[in-house]
Amino acid sequence: MRIEVRGIVQGVGFRPFIHRLVSEYGFFGWVRNSSRGVDMVLEGEEAQLRQFAERIAPEKPLLADVESVECSLCEIDEPFTAFEIIESRTMQSRDTLISPDIGICPDCLRELLDPKDKRYRYPFLNCTNCGPRFTIIRDIPYDRAKTSMSVFPMCPDCEREYRDITNRRYHAEPTCCSDCGPQVFYEEAGERLERDEAIERARQRLKEGAILAVKGLGGLHLACIPERAAELRARKHRDSKPFALMCRNADCAETMAVVTEAERERLESRQKPIVLLKKRVRGSFADVSENNYMGIMLPYTPLHVLLFGDDIDALIMTSANFSDKPILYTNEEARTELAAIADGLLLNERDIQTRCDDSLMYVCNGSDYFVRRSRGYVPYPVRLKGLERKLLACGAEQKASFVLSRGSSTFPSQHIGDLKNFETFDNYRQQIAHFERMFDIAPTAIACDLHPDYLSTQYARERAEKEGIPLVSVQHHHAHMAACMADNDLDETVIGLIWDGVGYGSDGSVWGGEFLLGDYGGFERKGHIRPIPLIGGDKAVKEIWRIGYAMSRDESLYGDYPLSVASMQLRSGLNCPLSSGMGRLFDGAASLMDICQYATYEGEGAVLLEAAADESCDEVYPFALAEGNIFDYEPMVRAILADRAAGVSKGIMAARFMNTLCLMAADITERISLESGVKTAVLSGGSFQNMYILSRLPRMLEQRGIRVCTHRRVSCNDEGLSLGQLMILNRALG
Ligand code: ZN
Ligand code: FE
Repeated sequence: MRIEVRGIVQGVGFRPFIHRLVSEYGFFGWVRNSSRGVDMVLEGEEAQLRQFAERIAPEKPLLADVESVECSLCEIDEPFTAFEIIESRTMQSRDTLISPDIGICPDCLRELLDPKDKRYRYPFLNCTNCGPRFTIIRDIPYDRAKTSMSVFPMCPDCEREYRDITNRRYHAEPTCCSDCGPQVFYEEAGERLERDEAIERARQRLKEGAILAVKGLGGLHLACIPERAAELRARKHRDSKPFALMCRNADCAETMAVVTEAERERLESRQKPIVLLKKRVRGSFADVSENNYMGIMLPYTPLHVLLFGDDIDALIMTSANFSDKPILYTNEEARTELAAIADGLLLNERDIQTRCDDSLMYVCNGSDYFVRRSRGYVPYPVRLKGLERKLLACGAEQKASFVLSRGSSTFPSQHIGDLKNFETFDNYRQQIAHFERMFDIAPTAIACDLHPDYLSTQYARERAEKEGIPLVSVQHHHAHMAACMADNDLDETVIGLIWDGVGYGSDGSVWGGEFLLGDYGGFERKGHIRPIPLIGGDKAVKEIWRIGYAMSRDESLYGDYPLSVASMQLRSGLNCPLSSGMGRLFDGAASLMDICQYATYEGEGAVLLEAAADESCDEVYPFALAEGNIFDYEPMVRAILADRAAGVSKGIMAARFMNTLCLMAADITERISLESGVKTAVLSGGSFQNMYILSRLPRMLEQRGIRVCTHRRVSCNDEGLSLGQLMILNRALG
């Protein structure tokens, strides 16, 4: 029987696994890496062979991802006399897949801490089950010569392990030890320490309260103990955006935040994402995070493990980047760009080829709910139904990401950032080229956002023109809807509740509080929130008092703000673009409740409003639905003003506001459902990062007989939207 296995099956211990499985049955024959995966020809009883083949996918090695196992009976010239592993010349091809970077495995952890092991305290040990992959690959095929490890020839010991099929480092491309691999070093004030001394000094300095730059897997972090959060924020000139923490282990995390069983499982998983956990004590660690959640991850490289030792419980570990530029990732950048911020630099000799930020997620009803899908997940494919072509979807702008497809496999990019920044846009273009080379995808058509000014749109337009391939512009919220459909393998007409900050509407105005009805082929706008005038245009996104003022037109409430120009603009409509964005409605409400008047980052008003809410409150504000399912916020605004005048707490007002949105959404969705007969709804858009709404609205919809699908594999925000663009493009091509 010839058996062909496709997927991520090379460099992940697949042939040793086959070797073990075959020896259970005693088959003769051979196995080898082929240009497309792993192939084998085995001789034995047909029933036994079939049973063997059926066990491959379920029992695969940890890091393997089996796309397909195909069996066919074949003739052999002569009976086999043994089972052998054939070394193939064309070991790897571009058709095989590359594993993401994986956190240190239990076996390596044991060696790291075992004084008798040759890799004791060596911060770069790894094996077939763990270590760097995606971030060190320069080119394909994936072998050591084409990674950052090419400059570290293996010592005879490592080489022997690498060639030994029974060894857990068999064909682990980045394997190394302290004799042959990269070393860590520490620099501070002209002094340079190496190896263990470097780590010990860094530990000591951290405990003293120093702020250090630490080079990790996908970039540089700034690290310090949580007590130094305010100092770090001051040195970094950072807005109030929350910092991520790294905790020594899940038990340490549990002293600060509530950790459910499912959350603990994610924290300890091999992907080691940052998990957003609810604070144990509301308002605690306010300098680290101003909301009710703490982003916590566990040490994921051997270096992190050594850095924590057994006496550091938690460190802030925030990406070292500035004003939306990409994460810094070279030793040189650490020395030049971080000199004013970091007291010392803990660097190493292994170059990072591809930047990759930490992944960020909530665990929602026991399953992953991404805010950022990056390290540990990229470049694993997301499998979608109904795709065959090689396509490229270019995403949006602020949370840029792209996705390439090949057959049923789609490859969403890592977190890229805001394209308005030149370095970020440059990295975006480089990453598209890198992915196309890694996965051998020359796109035959391109999708982009409908917004004519997005740099991703301009990139798509130029490429399509130059290469003479079709280009399809996709309305922003239609793409969000399609992304959530694809994420859930839906191909039917659905109702899309698409709520975000801003997206270019089909009519040229700004949308974002949308109720759509449609499928991959098209959509109708069936409802939305009443557009809000943004006094001063973009200015209103930061100075959100402008939105509260526009919604209430209450001059007494906003007496302390520069109203003269604003009120003139509001009356005349001059420089007052209309927006139906849900993010803006949140901003306005946060301002009316005096929770936030100036946002230091986009969406801060919404974040603080969610954080303020009193979860025990079930009451709602009055609201009206105008002709065409338009949510009229006027009655609600009056009620908020009355509450505020009566001294009602911010917590109650915030809860009443979000309860109102849920009820409004349930009412509108039910209307659309009754009218259309469609009983499935998808929730997408950045506003659904709001856990208060996400934990209530689906239940309310389900009580009205509507099935609700939320994101599972990609982010609900603009980062996940390219997946929807791709599906819409695919449908448009027929
Ligand atoms: Zn390992
Ligand atoms: Fe969006």
